Amino acid sequence: MSYRGRFAPSPTGLLHAGSLVAAVGSWLCARHAGGQWLVRMEDIDPPREVAGSAAAILGALPAFGLLADEPVIYQSSRVAAYAAAFEQLRKADLVFPCWCSRSDLAATGGIHRDGRCVARPDSQRTPAWRVRVADEAISFIDDLQGPQQQRLRDNVGDFVIRRVEGYYSYQLACVVDDAWQGITQVVRGSDLKDSTPRQIWLQRCLGLPTPRYLHLPLVLDAEGRKLSKSDRAREVDSSSPLPALHRALRFLGITPAETAVHPSALLEAALADFEPRRMTQCSDHRPA
Ligand code: GLU
Repeated sequence: MSYRGRFAPSPTGLLHAGSLVAAVGSWLCARHAGGQWLVRMEDIDPPREVAGSAAAILGALPAFGLLADEPVIYQSSRVAAYAAAFEQLRKADLVFPCWCSRSDLAATGGIHRDGRCVARPDSQRTPAWRVRVADEAISFIDDLQGPQQQRLRDNVGDFVIRRVEGYYSYQLACVVDDAWQGITQVVRGSDLKDSTPRQIWLQRCLGLPTPRYLHLPLVLDAEGRKLSKSDRAREVDSSSPLPALHRALRFLGITPAETAVHPSALLEAALADFEPRRMTQCSDHRPA
């Protein structure tokens, strides 16, 4: 199967150094494999959205030489597909409604392990819906960081796929769309490495293929914290893209020719000598 990769930002703020690294890393891996690179706007969480940020992110990408091979998919237009996946899980009796509050789950450290709601059903309140997880380890090979394993029941528990407000979760939407778009390799930041076993579990429940995964090192601020999209000071400057693009490449351990004067030329120079496994693996790097 030919390689299809993607960059899947959420419109919760402007493009910052960390998301630029994810965009550049996923682009390089796709192009290195002679594959396609798609962009998916993950706008399924209206309460967390920042007005104008979807357009700002999509407007910034071409300035960095990052051009998608297909029109952008907006998750807000895909709700019927998430509802169908949810119905499939419900019919297979893999999900259950849950009215649990934080205090109901306090005894188990916030983890839901019973495969059913431990609170009293309340017909007056809309429930969240959780998918049951099995008591087994989920393993995958990260193409940069090597073998990974997580026991969902111990570490995550039965997890929410439809929230009380009626929104489908990131985990469900991501899995449905990665399959629908034919994504063969997911390249994203290490902050999402922890989500991968949940996504693999959902793929198994829904009978969907599992792509390969590669989690890039995380860009941290000077205090060692993950960059937040809501921190406006961290926005990358797309009106003068070369410095931020150089920093993103250096962060990934790639030092292309300094002579490139256009972002596309800089990316092509980086690609000429690119080898995914040589990217920086450590997840506690500071911005260069
Ligand atoms: N939308 C997610 C984010 O911006 C990334 C999803 C993914 O790459 O799987 O954090």
